[in-house]
Amino acid sequence: PKQSYRWQRVLLKVSGEALAGDQTQTIDPKITMSIAREVASVTRLGIEVAIVVGGGNIFRGASWAGCSGLDRSSADYIGMLATVMNAIFLQATMESIGIPTRVQTAFRMSEVAEPYIRRRAVRHLEKGRVVIFAAGTGNPFFTTDTAAALRCAEINAEVVLKATNVDGVYDDDPRTNPNAQLLENLTYQEVTSKDLSVMDMTAVTLCQENNIPVVVFNLAKPGNIAKAIIGEKVGTLIGG
Ligand code: UDP
Repeated sequence: PKQSYRWQRVLLKVSGEALAGDQTQTIDPKITMSIAREVASVTRLGIEVAIVVGGGNIFRGASWAGCSGLDRSSADYIGMLATVMNAIFLQATMESIGIPTRVQTAFRMSEVAEPYIRRRAVRHLEKGRVVIFAAGTGNPFFTTDTAAALRCAEINAEVVLKATNVDGVYDDDPRTNPNAQLLENLTYQEVTSKDLSVMDMTAVTLCQENNIPVVVFNLAKPGNIAKAIIGEKVGTLIGG
């Protein structure tokens, strides 16, 4: 019989920046390996893990739009393709340590990865495979945070675990204000009204409307990913 943990199925959001580590390279293989190891430790416990990867370490549509005639939609497609690169890297790392992993893309690239099929994704999870969702929502003008909220709702995952480079949500910017306080619990209302830069509004609203709690935590601290997935207190809990 399975021991029961706080969550049975989680959606882990890994931003592109988090994958870049200290930013001296596009992807830090030590980081993908630590993610893989920690995810392996929890899938062994029977917790189902789906992952949405960002692409900001490679390309962010909004910051390139307008350059040499690049329109926003085209820029965003490049951004979505960037997430696929990260997804394939992460998949390879996971499989190198024996975690069966499938990548599903929001638009077809069938030589490279499966297309996103909700029921198939759920089936993979039930079989103990990790599913990495790539290419965001498949639509320009969205973000991978919104993709995380959307996929979480679609596959009936119980929580979005947002892995970042900071310990959680603060009342002020901890890089400029040494007295900034880490906020351990927040309502969705507080996030939107105080304009706390946690996730974009579309993502927060989608979580709020579907009662999906969000945990914001630091991926750079060893053990944190596993802790967040198991449901131990880490970072900031929004909603729930
Ligand atoms: N993107 C998009 N639609 C989506 C998700 C992502 O157009 O549904 C594009 C957008 O250009 C974005 C880029 O992909 O800047 C990378 O994603 P994001 O910035 O969310 O990555 P992260 O900040 O998590 O690294």
